[in-house]
Amino acid sequence: MATTLAGTAAATDLDAKRREIVAQAEASGLRLVRFLYCDNDGIIRGKSAGIANLAERLETGIGLTVAMQAFTLLDHLASVDGMGPVGEIRLVPDPTTFAIAPYAPHTGTVLVDMQTLDGQPYPADGRGFLKRMIGRAAGDHDLSLIAAFEPEWSLAIKTGEDFSPIDDSGCFTSTGMNIAAPVIDEIVAALESQGMTVEQYYAELGWGQQELSIRHAPALQAADHHILYRETVRGIALRHGRYASFAPKPWADQAGNGCHLHFSGWDRDQTVNRFYDAGGQYNLSTLARHFMAGILDHLPGLVALTCASVNSYRRLQPHMWASAYRAWGPDNREGAVRVASPFKGHEAESTNVELKSSDSSANPYISLGGVIAAGLDGIERKLTLPPAVTVDPYNLSDKERQTIGADRLPQSLKEALDNLKRDDTLLKALGERLATSYIAVKELDVEAFAAEDDAFEFRQHIYKY
Ligand code: GLU
Ligand code: MG
Repeated sequence: MATTLAGTAAATDLDAKRREIVAQAEASGLRLVRFLYCDNDGIIRGKSAGIANLAERLETGIGLTVAMQAFTLLDHLASVDGMGPVGEIRLVPDPTTFAIAPYAPHTGTVLVDMQTLDGQPYPADGRGFLKRMIGRAAGDHDLSLIAAFEPEWSLAIKTGEDFSPIDDSGCFTSTGMNIAAPVIDEIVAALESQGMTVEQYYAELGWGQQELSIRHAPALQAADHHILYRETVRGIALRHGRYASFAPKPWADQAGNGCHLHFSGWDRDQTVNRFYDAGGQYNLSTLARHFMAGILDHLPGLVALTCASVNSYRRLQPHMWASAYRAWGPDNREGAVRVASPFKGHEAESTNVELKSSDSSANPYISLGGVIAAGLDGIERKLTLPPAVTVDPYNLSDKERQTIGADRLPQSLKEALDNLKRDDTLLKALGERLATSYIAVKELDVEAFAAEDDAFEFRQHIYKY
């Protein structure tokens, strides 16, 4: 078999990394290592390997039925050709993602790539999709995305079948921070021990609502971190007898949980922020403007990937600072795309853009992959940004909104999916297998929740996300 020198070196590195994991697992007294993935419905699932066979499992992976990428959050199986009871894929660990889980006894975690039995990327894998988009951005445009998912979530107490917020404290209040402090303290330690750096923490507006952000990272790592983050927050909360929920709208009368997606586009070596231009409006380069224009252009369908649950559309309402309109502006928290104000004296590094129409019910690999696909299309077609909106877009007249294309975003997952089905750029980027299975899963959710009452929707989303 012909192997390039670089290929040999990479394989040796991988072997060394796997040996390191086995040594670390043994030294730490681990009993199980979870092989985790995020499915099409944004649910984190996995299977665990025992320690005796860990070396082998790290190399060959663990088998998974092909049906799982057609599974919904309710564990219903959508009807997708080739995703039934017959056939397997492999969950093959990316050894760079290994971590010891501070929220489960004697347990490690590793994130996986889905592969076919002959070792090829499985085309319905979200992580594989993001890797493809990262490769396209670097290969075709010398562009490397640095990103941060900025999650809000709610701390809840479960009484019988009901979940209620742990407090009724106010926005940024120290009362709210004190009530949540024991859980937050342990979460911060657990995130840091797994290699994530905490940036900021505060009690957010909603009852029981928290916002704790971690440092940005190259795109793939940012999505990996978001998976580990969700696992950690929910796992630690459970140890305190609490439920942490990333549901976009856990309670009808409280603020929604966004997961704003911050990003900037750097050169391949990640030394120059190509989104920054000292002479550009709000310090934005022409490249950044094309990228943003691509996002706004595709947003009606893109939100099916970034605001990915039935529950998401309760959040995307005017006056909720969640973004209800296809508009952009500097520090405009009612527009879908916000240009975050850069740090004085650090403009070149800190110029970044935020997609507000994003929440944690999305699969972060698929949502970030979709954002890159839309942005690259904007660059390739040299799309022009409409004028910046510097007021709440709700307060513009219909005519004013029409002139700048500041349409209301889809008001249901169904509407977003119908737009996605018409968006050839996004469908082509996702690829036939991923697009088909993703849409089938989401359409089954739409149907299943339409047949139930609101209470069922809230409870399922609070509990599952
Ligand atoms: N909770 C708001 C949302 O759903 C965001 C509030 C803010 O951080 O600006 O996106
Ligand atoms: Mg916030």
